[in-house]
Amino acid sequence: MYDPDNIFGKILRGEIPSTRVYEDDDTLAFMDIMPRAEGHVLVIPKTPCRNMLDASPEQVAAVMKTVQILSRAMMVAFEADGITLQQFNEAAGGQEVFHLHFHVLARHEGDRLWAPG
Ligand code: C5P
Repeated sequence: MYDPDNIFGKILRGEIPSTRVYEDDDTLAFMDIMPRAEGHVLVIPKTPCRNMLDASPEQVAAVMKTVQILSRAMMVAFEADGITLQQFNEAAGGQEVFHLHFHVLARHEGDRLWAPG
Protein backbone atom coordinates (compact mmCIF):
# COMPACT_ATOMS: atom_id res chain seq x y z
CA MET A 1 0.00 0.00 0.00
CA TYR A 2 2.71 2.54 0.99
CA ASP A 3 5.78 2.78 -1.27
CA PRO A 4 8.67 4.43 0.66
CA ASP A 5 10.34 5.37 -2.64
CA ASN A 6 7.71 8.03 -3.42
CA ILE A 7 9.03 11.59 -3.88
CA PHE A 8 7.90 12.85 -0.48
CA GLY A 9 9.48 9.84 1.22
CA LYS A 10 12.73 10.89 -0.46
CA ILE A 11 12.25 14.51 0.66
CA LEU A 12 11.67 13.31 4.24
CA ARG A 13 14.92 11.33 4.14
CA GLY A 14 16.81 14.27 2.61
CA GLU A 15 17.55 12.30 -0.57
CA ILE A 16 16.15 15.07 -2.78
CA PRO A 17 16.09 18.80 -1.97
CA SER A 18 13.09 20.81 -0.79
CA THR A 19 12.50 24.25 0.65
CA ARG A 20 11.40 23.44 4.19
CA VAL A 21 9.31 26.09 5.93
CA TYR A 22 8.14 24.30 9.11
CA GLU A 23 8.88 21.09 10.95
CA ASP A 24 7.88 19.42 14.22
CA ASP A 25 8.23 15.88 15.60
CA ASP A 26 5.37 14.54 13.49
CA THR A 27 5.10 16.70 10.36
CA LEU A 28 7.06 18.59 7.72
CA ALA A 29 5.97 21.53 5.54
CA PHE A 30 7.78 22.60 2.36
CA MET A 31 7.16 24.74 -0.72
CA ASP A 32 5.49 23.03 -3.70
CA ILE A 33 7.90 23.08 -6.68
CA MET A 34 5.07 23.84 -9.11
CA PRO A 35 3.10 26.46 -7.17
CA ARG A 36 -0.51 27.22 -8.03
CA ALA A 37 -0.44 30.44 -5.97
CA GLU A 38 2.19 32.85 -4.65
CA GLY A 39 2.21 30.88 -1.42
CA HIS A 40 1.80 27.12 -1.96
CA VAL A 41 2.97 24.85 0.86
CA LEU A 42 2.62 21.08 1.27
CA VAL A 43 2.14 19.54 4.73
CA ILE A 44 3.01 15.87 5.23
CA PRO A 45 3.27 13.43 8.13
CA LYS A 46 6.75 12.08 8.88
CA THR A 47 5.39 8.55 9.29
CA PRO A 48 4.42 6.35 6.31
CA CYS A 49 0.89 7.09 5.09
CA ARG A 50 -0.48 6.83 1.55
CA ASN A 51 -3.42 9.24 1.87
CA MET A 52 -6.45 10.07 4.03
CA LEU A 53 -7.93 6.64 3.30
CA ASP A 54 -4.86 5.10 4.96
CA ALA A 55 -4.29 7.62 7.79
CA SER A 56 -4.63 6.97 11.51
CA PRO A 57 -6.52 9.48 13.68
CA GLU A 58 -3.17 10.50 15.16
CA GLN A 59 -1.68 11.21 11.71
CA VAL A 60 -4.76 13.22 10.73
CA ALA A 61 -4.59 15.22 13.98
CA ALA A 62 -0.86 15.96 13.60
CA VAL A 63 -1.17 17.03 9.97
CA MET A 64 -4.23 19.20 10.58
CA LYS A 65 -2.50 20.91 13.51
CA THR A 66 0.36 21.89 11.20
CA VAL A 67 -2.06 22.87 8.42
CA GLN A 68 -3.69 25.34 10.81
CA ILE A 69 -0.33 26.74 11.99
CA LEU A 70 0.80 27.20 8.37
CA SER A 71 -2.53 28.69 7.30
CA ARG A 72 -2.34 31.35 10.01
CA ALA A 73 1.33 32.08 9.26
CA MET A 74 0.69 32.34 5.51
CA MET A 75 -2.13 34.85 6.05
CA VAL A 76 0.53 37.12 7.56
CA ALA A 77 3.53 36.20 5.39
CA PHE A 78 1.68 36.65 2.08
CA GLU A 79 -0.69 39.37 3.30
CA ALA A 80 -3.41 36.98 2.13
CA ASP A 81 -7.16 37.48 2.22
CA GLY A 82 -7.90 33.77 2.58
CA ILE A 83 -6.54 30.23 2.45
CA THR A 84 -7.52 27.31 0.19
CA LEU A 85 -6.82 23.74 1.31
CA GLN A 86 -6.62 20.94 -1.26
CA GLN A 87 -6.13 17.23 -0.63
CA PHE A 88 -6.41 14.36 -3.15
CA ASN A 89 -6.80 10.61 -2.60
CA GLU A 90 -5.78 7.93 -5.12
CA ALA A 91 -5.22 8.54 -8.83
CA ALA A 92 -8.93 8.78 -9.57
CA GLY A 93 -9.16 11.47 -6.90
CA GLY A 94 -6.32 13.48 -8.44
CA GLN A 95 -3.44 12.23 -6.24
CA GLU A 96 -0.03 12.13 -7.97
CA VAL A 97 2.35 11.58 -5.04
CA PHE A 98 1.33 8.73 -2.78
CA HIS A 99 2.36 10.10 0.61
CA LEU A 100 -0.42 11.94 2.47
CA HIS A 101 -0.24 15.69 1.89
CA PHE A 102 -2.35 18.81 2.19
CA HIS A 103 -1.89 21.76 -0.17
CA VAL A 104 -2.11 25.10 1.67
CA LEU A 105 -2.62 27.99 -0.76
CA ALA A 106 -2.55 31.70 0.10
CA ARG A 107 -5.36 33.53 -1.71
CA HIS A 108 -6.08 37.16 -2.55
CA GLU A 109 -9.41 38.75 -3.35
CA GLY A 110 -10.35 38.06 -6.99
CA ASP A 111 -7.32 35.84 -7.77
CA ARG A 112 -7.35 32.53 -9.62
CA LEU A 113 -5.16 29.51 -8.96
CA TRP A 114 -2.31 29.24 -11.45
CA ALA A 115 -2.31 26.37 -13.95
CA PRO A 116 -0.15 23.40 -12.88
CA GLY A 117 3.45 23.90 -13.97
O1 C5P B 1 -1.85 15.75 -6.98
P1 C5P B 1 -1.00 15.74 -5.75
O2 C5P B 1 -1.71 16.38 -4.58
O3 C5P B 1 -0.46 14.37 -5.42
O4 C5P B 1 0.20 16.70 -6.12
C1 C5P B 1 1.52 16.49 -5.76
C2 C5P B 1 2.19 17.83 -5.61
O5 C5P B 1 3.55 17.61 -5.32
C3 C5P B 1 2.16 18.72 -6.88
O6 C5P B 1 1.57 19.98 -6.56
C4 C5P B 1 3.65 18.87 -7.23
O7 C5P B 1 3.96 20.15 -7.73
C5 C5P B 1 4.32 18.62 -5.89
N1 C5P B 1 5.71 18.17 -5.94
C6 C5P B 1 6.68 18.89 -5.23
N2 C5P B 1 7.98 18.45 -5.25
C7 C5P B 1 8.34 17.39 -5.97
C8 C5P B 1 7.36 16.66 -6.70
C9 C5P B 1 6.04 17.08 -6.67
O8 C5P B 1 6.37 19.88 -4.59
N3 C5P B 1 9.62 17.03 -6.01
